[in-house]
Amino acid sequence: MITSKDIAKILEKYDQKKLAIGTLGSHSSLNIFKGAKEEGFRTVCVCKEKDAIMYKKYPLVDELIIVKDFTELLNEALQEKLRKLNVILVPHGSFTAYLSTEELTDSLFVPMFGNRQLLHWEANRKSQEEWLRQAGLRLPATFKTPEDIDRLIIAKLPGAKGGRGYFLANSPKSFHQKFDSMVKRGLLTKDDLGKIHLQEYALGVNVYPSYFSSILNDDVELLCVDRRYESAVDSIGKIPASEQLEIDVNPTYTIVGNFPIVLRESLLPELMRMGDNVHKKAKELAPPGIIGPFCLETVITDDLKIFTFEISARIVAGTNVGIGTSPYAYLKYGENMYMGRRIAMEIKEAREQKRLQDILA
Ligand code: AMP
Ligand code: AMP
Repeated sequence: MITSKDIAKILEKYDQKKLAIGTLGSHSSLNIFKGAKEEGFRTVCVCKEKDAIMYKKYPLVDELIIVKDFTELLNEALQEKLRKLNVILVPHGSFTAYLSTEELTDSLFVPMFGNRQLLHWEANRKSQEEWLRQAGLRLPATFKTPEDIDRLIIAKLPGAKGGRGYFLANSPKSFHQKFDSMVKRGLLTKDDLGKIHLQEYALGVNVYPSYFSSILNDDVELLCVDRRYESAVDSIGKIPASEQLEIDVNPTYTIVGNFPIVLRESLLPELMRMGDNVHKKAKELAPPGIIGPFCLETVITDDLKIFTFEISARIVAGTNVGIGTSPYAYLKYGENMYMGRRIAMEIKEAREQKRLQDILA
């Protein structure tokens, strides 16, 4: 486990006047690099050859490091290179998608913006649920066995990419029928039965508020709200119900993009309280709590109940809808504030206040 002492030692050797902001070249890297540039930082991008075109077209990266695979971030030589460049890494979804939580907390000896300890809370479904429930959020009910199903549920296979193999059921009978048919179609195996997570289906619209928790200002800011554009679920409505039945479609949720949302204003106070409470609880679980961006995945029902499914304790790609500005960032900062820039601003202020150590936990 990398400790704050390790980070302090690395920072001692850094030339803090020449700090650079670095990240993996994907997900929300353009957002992060643009923000870093606007706050006067140098930028370092670790990327794959095939993606380098993006960083040649947009003039945002000072140092491009080409790797074959993102796991090369674990190589000592690459880490030494990043440290020599005085890099502070900003983690995003590709870090957790391509590296394990243990690798991130134990083997990445480069200062990282955020609280690494929270990665463990986030990575485990049970502990994440505990965190959110203890923060007073409303979560969909879960059912221990299919025999307990008494309402519409979604059956989820842990680790299923993009919701592949998820299905809906509303009674023990319909669950078993659907499960057997998924097995017949080769989408699931009999052994999956014990592993399936049964969750109340919250019928409503998906809303993803993104927050920034500032350790320096001791405040949680709501910076933008998005929804996802997912294939195939967002296309199912384009074909008539009769054809849907014929081809036996099952919704999958492969992310293709995001839309910005402006919410009904009376929903904002509750979302703000939720953000505050999640951070407050995180402070108890893993001090100093959330450092920087986080996002709640919610569904809002027609009686305006807000169900939370998941938390990401890092920048989510949905904040890319706010590059430049979003209504919520505008309300607080005026023009030209967005998650990537907000991160860089916090790093800059921490350097000025000699508090870098506090944001690189
Ligand atoms: P990628 O590097 O594009 O493969 O993304 C890394 C991880 O982030 C994957 O698990 C994606 O599902 C997720 N991701 C990428 N882009 C988005 C997005 N726009 N919205 C939500 N999740 C995303
Ligand atoms: P997940 O793999 O948990 O991120 O879920 C993928 C997608 O399935 C989410 O983006 C939601 O749209 C949908 N979903 C997951 N769980 C539920 C639920 N309990 N109720 C309604 N929709 C859900």
